Amino acid sequence: MKEHAGQKPVSSLKIYLRLLGYVRPYTGKFAISILGFLIFASSQPMLAGIFKYFVDGLIDPSVSPFPGLPLLADMPLMHTVPVLIVLIAAWQGVGSYLGNYFLQKVSLGLVHDLRVALFDSLLRLPNRYFDENSSGHLISRITFNVTMVTGAATNAIKIVIREGLTAVFLFAYLLWMNWKLTLVMVAILPVIGVLVSSASRKFRKQAKKIQLAMGDVTHVASETIQGYRVVRSFGGEPYESRRFRAASTDNTSKQLRMVKTGEIFTPTLQLVTYIAMAFVLFLVLWLRGDATAGDLVAFITAAGLLPKPVRQLSEVSSTIQRGVAGAESIFEQLDEAPETDHGTVERERVTGRLEVRDLTFRYPGGARPVLEKVSFAVEPGQMVALVGRSGSGKSTLANLIPRFYHHDQGQILIDGVDVEDYTLRNLRRHIALVTQQVTLFNDTVANNIAYGDLAGAPRGAIEAAAEAAYAKEFIDRLPQGFDTLIGENGVMLSGGQRQRLAIARALLKDAPILILDEATSALDTESERHIQAALDRATRGRTTLVIAHRLSTIEKADVILVMEQGRLVERGSHSQLLAAGGAYARLHAMQFHDDAPADVGRR
Ligand code: ATP
Ligand code: MG
Repeated sequence: MKEHAGQKPVSSLKIYLRLLGYVRPYTGKFAISILGFLIFASSQPMLAGIFKYFVDGLIDPSVSPFPGLPLLADMPLMHTVPVLIVLIAAWQGVGSYLGNYFLQKVSLGLVHDLRVALFDSLLRLPNRYFDENSSGHLISRITFNVTMVTGAATNAIKIVIREGLTAVFLFAYLLWMNWKLTLVMVAILPVIGVLVSSASRKFRKQAKKIQLAMGDVTHVASETIQGYRVVRSFGGEPYESRRFRAASTDNTSKQLRMVKTGEIFTPTLQLVTYIAMAFVLFLVLWLRGDATAGDLVAFITAAGLLPKPVRQLSEVSSTIQRGVAGAESIFEQLDEAPETDHGTVERERVTGRLEVRDLTFRYPGGARPVLEKVSFAVEPGQMVALVGRSGSGKSTLANLIPRFYHHDQGQILIDGVDVEDYTLRNLRRHIALVTQQVTLFNDTVANNIAYGDLAGAPRGAIEAAAEAAYAKEFIDRLPQGFDTLIGENGVMLSGGQRQRLAIARALLKDAPILILDEATSALDTESERHIQAALDRATRGRTTLVIAHRLSTIEKADVILVMEQGRLVERGSHSQLLAAGGAYARLHAMQFHDDAPADVGRR
């Protein structure tokens, strides 16, 4: 996991402003929503104002309050007050609808945009990023963090605008009614300010911890779900159960801590507000002066309406901080540098000459180089085999050719052009790769073979590729043939069947360079022999790099490279290497003696 604690915290305001940048496309909807909240907020002092007329009406209900206005001129207070109250409620309702509905539109749109941006960034991030971050945390960022941001975007904006405007309107009304009394209330603002800012800081820190804890929950759950067979066969249930409980308990206690902060904060603020209110009430009774009873009732009502928006405004700080913390990690991911792609060369088709010169590579953070001064060249159409004991760097070398990782020292050239000089997309078009771990998608057999750029390939071509990969014999026996759904990562298939689909996919790609990393390791000798024959045909005219432990598969290779701890220690054809009597010969003797696959280089 990446540790973010050491990084300098970005200011909340900066993050919030950046988040608001995402609102820009929704400016129109946002404006309607603000208008709605303006309408809503304006209804609040109106409701307080009604009390003035009500109290006046108690004294003489037959007086007309608005003698100058056309419709209301002849209306006595007895009728005006009830009619107005209903009208104000309707006004408030319209405001509430416009405000809430349009704000939801904005915020749901915002969530969609953020989610898509996060997902798209996953498609561009370098392999290294996936090595460093667990999938659980990446998934939880898309599902959980984004909803935290919605909270900040919807509820917070709603409350800030609606309650903020309400407070402003009430305040203006109070000032207009009696500015001296109102200024007494203003005196508490600095106290509120201090309370809110200290709580905000706490909220953000806690929210960040909650998100990491949520990532842990997703991480443990997804690991257990994916590895349920191992969990069961090795009796890992108690361990996994404990691990999950710990992650979930941790999450719960962190959430509770945040709730606690909030629940101490809100009543404190409430108390401060009411102390100010109490003082105002005292002053009203003490110096009522020449104000009418109606005026004073309206004033007190309006002042009484004030603590609610103030409380809500203060509570919103926790929502905002949660959103800011969510947005922070979202932006961190969005700011990660994508795969470097500075190349400019694009070729329609390469001949497939592959040359590796003095290639030295270490994984980021790795102590020692995994590859050291590796050099070799393969002519177009040749087959080169890479053998060597486990961990000697064979897959790493294969991964460097399509630039899954970046190397600093040495060069890899395809048709004489450094792979770094090709555009990534073009480079990868020239290479068909069957990786050591087969990846299949929860789709039909046909769609798994014709994946990505190959999607939409004619059925005939798909069947031919399947035939060549010796996969047709089992596909035809599947219930719906090529249209059978194969489950998540192809769970419905055997290991060898999965490998054959991966080979079919690579063959359908028909790229000039074919890399097979232990592509036939899971196959029985019989099936392998069939594939071998097919591959002999398929590899004709294309450069092939085969990595294999089972030496019988690579006897026909033009060159065999023997690797040991990242170095090429031997090279030559099968017969040359046998004659030389080195590492390869020893290994060969051992495999034929045991008649079982063994590691090259074991002595
Ligand atoms: P095998 O025959 O078992 O597949 P290999 O020859 O393909 O082995 P590599 O997968 O290339 O071996 O690994 C070479 C070394 O690099 C190993 O020591 C391994 O620990 C290290 N390594 C592999 N992948 C990574 C990675 N993503 N990050 C850091 N180190 C890695
Ligand atoms: Mg490997």
